[in-house]
Amino acid sequence: MSNTSKQEILPKEPGTPKCAALDHFVLQSLPLAAVIFDRDLKIISANSSALELIEIGKTADATLSAGTNEKIWGNWQSTLLEVIEKGKICRFDNVAFTVAGGQAILEITCAPLRESSTSDIKGGLLLLEDITQRANIKKQLEHTERLAALGKLASKVAHELNNPIDGIMRYINLAKRAISEKGLAKPVEYLEHAGAGLERMVQIITELLEFSRNKYSPLEDMPLDKMIDDSIRFMAPAARAAEIEIEKQYSLPLPKMKVGNLFQVFCNLLKNAIEAMPDGGKVTISCNVSEDNIAIIKFQDTGQGFEPQNSEAIFEPFFTTKTGGKGTGLGLAICRDIMEKAGGKVIAQNAPDQGSIFTVYLPVTE
Ligand code: ADP
Repeated sequence: MSNTSKQEILPKEPGTPKCAALDHFVLQSLPLAAVIFDRDLKIISANSSALELIEIGKTADATLSAGTNEKIWGNWQSTLLEVIEKGKICRFDNVAFTVAGGQAILEITCAPLRESSTSDIKGGLLLLEDITQRANIKKQLEHTERLAALGKLASKVAHELNNPIDGIMRYINLAKRAISEKGLAKPVEYLEHAGAGLERMVQIITELLEFSRNKYSPLEDMPLDKMIDDSIRFMAPAARAAEIEIEKQYSLPLPKMKVGNLFQVFCNLLKNAIEAMPDGGKVTISCNVSEDNIAIIKFQDTGQGFEPQNSEAIFEPFFTTKTGGKGTGLGLAICRDIMEKAGGKVIAQNAPDQGSIFTVYLPVTE
């Protein structure tokens, strides 16, 4: 269906049923797309919203002279005929519909139109409401609610698991000591594997607890450069082991910040950068403050980057591309959570040449 002719389609023919002569101005002023058709499903009238939404302009013109056009109604033909036949109103929610701009979600109502004097059904009225935006917001809300519920559940499970894991770890260590005193190398090795597995569980639990924690703990004001320096110091052994150089590109003084968990955000971004460069490389950390007082901290690496279509997905909890149990997929979700609670944000983009850039934006409060 094309939409080349955007003029209104008004009742023209002498045989037009009276019911279809719904006041033209009423039809036009409806905030919905409205189409009136007769018993043969021939379009009698349509408002400009309908012409725009379902692009019936040209085809409808043809229909006015050529009678019923199956191409216009497609699968809806039988539904509309049923409405006319049974005189019942039908409503359809969340109908996916291809429009010129892409896919739209419509709410469609079909109602019979009756001749006022005889009550005979003379045709029907089709109302189409574009609810794409509403449907998307609803989907987003549901998603956020799911995440919040997941956070609460994760926190409960993590708390419950913490104590028994602690106990198991202690018993493993005791057993290891006792067995190694007897010179049994193999069982000690097995227990070391068991211990490593438990440590991994502790890692996941710690991250889950961090993710589900609602409030960040504001420390006293601390200069931003000190927080960045602390995180570099913390991650330095891992960077050295992977032959990664860390370059700082900022001039002092940087403002003071109150977000205690910023350290955790920086550590996580550095850790990810390091892990994205298994064959070595460089992380450049730059920081400046914009004119509207936003601190912009960039972590650019020379690693493999990420799939462009995943630039949002990587912030989802449990999204990870790291194999061999290396990733939990919680780091960036936690970073985003911390940043949003602090009134800032973190975004990811691939660098134009190689690697990726993670940028933290945070309002300066001092
Ligand atoms: P994890 O590190 O446990 O996988 P994250 O939430 O920290 O969880 O990261 C999610 C995913 O984002 C990673 O698995 C990786 O695919 C991608 N990612 C994060 N940082 C980088 C980076 N610096 N370069 C390339 N990909 C990255």
